[in-house]
Amino acid sequence: MIKITFPDNSVKEFEPGVTPLKIASSISSSLAKKCVIAKVNGNLHDMATPIEEDATIELLNIDSADLKDVLNHSCAHLLAHAIKKLYPHAMFGVGPSIDEGFYYDLDLGDVKLTDEDLVKIEKKMTALVAEGASIQRRVVSKEEAKELFKDEVYKLELIEELPEDESITVYEQGDFRDLCRGPHVSSTKWLKNFKLLSVSGAYWRGDAKKAQLQRVYGTCFAKEEDLKQHLINLEERKKRDHRRLGKELELFMISEYGPGFPFWLPNGMILRRNLENFWYDLHTKRGYQFVQTPVMLSKELWETSGHWFNYKENMYTSQIDEREFAIKPMNCPGGMLVYKNSIHSYRDFPLRVGELGLVHRHEASGALAGLFRVRNFTQDDAHIFITEEQIENEIIELLDLFDSVYKVFNLSYHIELSTRPEDKYIGEIETWNKAEAALARALEAKGINYILNPGDGAFYGPKLDFKLRDSMNRIWQCGTIQLDMNLPERFDLTYVSETGEKLRPIMLHRACFGSIERFIGIITEHFAGAFPLWLAPKQIVIIPVNNDAHGAYAKEVCAKLANAGLRVSVDERDEKLNYKIRESQTKKTPYTLVLGDKEVAEAAVTYRKFGTQASTTLSFEEFLSQMKEEVETKGIK
Ligand SMILES: [Zn+2]
Ligand SMILES: [Zn+2]
Repeated sequence: MIKITFPDNSVKEFEPGVTPLKIASSISSSLAKKCVIAKVNGNLHDMATPIEEDATIELLNIDSADLKDVLNHSCAHLLAHAIKKLYPHAMFGVGPSIDEGFYYDLDLGDVKLTDEDLVKIEKKMTALVAEGASIQRRVVSKEEAKELFKDEVYKLELIEELPEDESITVYEQGDFRDLCRGPHVSSTKWLKNFKLLSVSGAYWRGDAKKAQLQRVYGTCFAKEEDLKQHLINLEERKKRDHRRLGKELELFMISEYGPGFPFWLPNGMILRRNLENFWYDLHTKRGYQFVQTPVMLSKELWETSGHWFNYKENMYTSQIDEREFAIKPMNCPGGMLVYKNSIHSYRDFPLRVGELGLVHRHEASGALAGLFRVRNFTQDDAHIFITEEQIENEIIELLDLFDSVYKVFNLSYHIELSTRPEDKYIGEIETWNKAEAALARALEAKGINYILNPGDGAFYGPKLDFKLRDSMNRIWQCGTIQLDMNLPERFDLTYVSETGEKLRPIMLHRACFGSIERFIGIITEHFAGAFPLWLAPKQIVIIPVNNDAHGAYAKEVCAKLANAGLRVSVDERDEKLNYKIRESQTKKTPYTLVLGDKEVAEAAVTYRKFGTQASTTLSFEEFLSQMKEEVETKGIK
């Protein structure tokens, strides 16, 4: 008999080979009906796959958050099943779950799928869900697998690559089978809340020299309302595309003369300057100093840093006076030279040196996407030098700093701690352990729940990543704090300790926005172009009801507001009042003032705030102080 331990620590004995389904049934048949998948010893496990040894078990129902990938991947099988029914000659590549859904690559010969075809396929999928076939796992030998998939060239290629002695699993539902490691939900009936999203071209194994396949994207949710909300979010993301808004609001442009190299237009420059000023102010208050290191430095430096050997294909290089140079893809090596420029003592620590550094990286032209993926961008970098004992406090300081930044943009986030990789790492295990423990203690001291990614750290040190969630439920990795044991060694950085010894400092790299360009792309979509007052390129538009009667007062108000540092203009064009108000709204101006007889007589202003219908009248002085306060506090109450 084997011992099965339940989440409440109760233990039951079963025959070896018992399945989670049998275990669930032994408790109650209604439980067995509700279970979609199990977790055995912490790993997802099919309901119908036997358990041979003592194990812990957790039975999951459809609501479980752990189910997302399995649900989506199971839906990819459902898609393939439906396609096989409709297009019997179809051959399949791979069909993994992805961030917010799944895809399947398929070869339909001459048939090019259209949006109408996707609707047809969805109908077939829904019919298969209604049949509710159970999804069965089967273990086969390599020979059997080859026989089963003898008509599927892509699957055969995958089977050929599997090791001889490895058992191969096949999943079957009704008359469809797929080569797959699993696990899967127990039945197609769990897959009813899905949607096919698009179809595009994809090369087999991502290789342009191989066959061109079609990739169908879809998404699947446990709950209908979650699917609905996701589809609304997808629509909203399309509408808010920063490439479109960037053009409409005249923030930036990209020219065919510089693919991936953004130009900043006057409105975009205002955003940038405000973000940068905010960054400088905040960091100055927190004891940072600032440097600027050259964009181009000689090959020898990149050899010392290791970039020349490990990163060269991403770097732009050139020659000056017959010496090889590279344009910096990172600010770090320059930062190391700055550190070495003077002698440091433990008394200088923590030494916080910031740099808004423009870096260039060669990205494939196909990967470029507006401001999200560019070839040059500004990192809000800093290198922090500390002693081992200072790690925890410095991390607490950084958690505080990052939080105060993200709050301003109303972006929520979670943090992931990645620790030492299993085999490829440098430095002493003892240092790693101490550093990882210090990072964890800092998070705990701040009462922050975090996700632990064991083995996911960089080869040079553990790290904390900040994953931001925008208003459309997208996750962006922006902030990062990385401990580095590599560069201080390579550049032989030292400081003089309390006892006069020369010691190696602990170094942290950290960035909060990540890339200013990408961050502007993110917040443009997050705010749908309606930036908060402190960032908005144009903050106030003043519209006189009648140019002759109220124009002079409008200009006077404008001059006073401009004098107070606000970005404001008067719309004096010969257009209808309503047209001008509407245009100010289209441009997402935070405040539109309409000034007429009453306002002139009372030295007042009447304003409409973007996104509201209500008009409010205030004395000019009140309005001015309200504007100043809103800019000053960045709208944070
Ligand atoms: Zn599968
Ligand atoms: Zn760095």
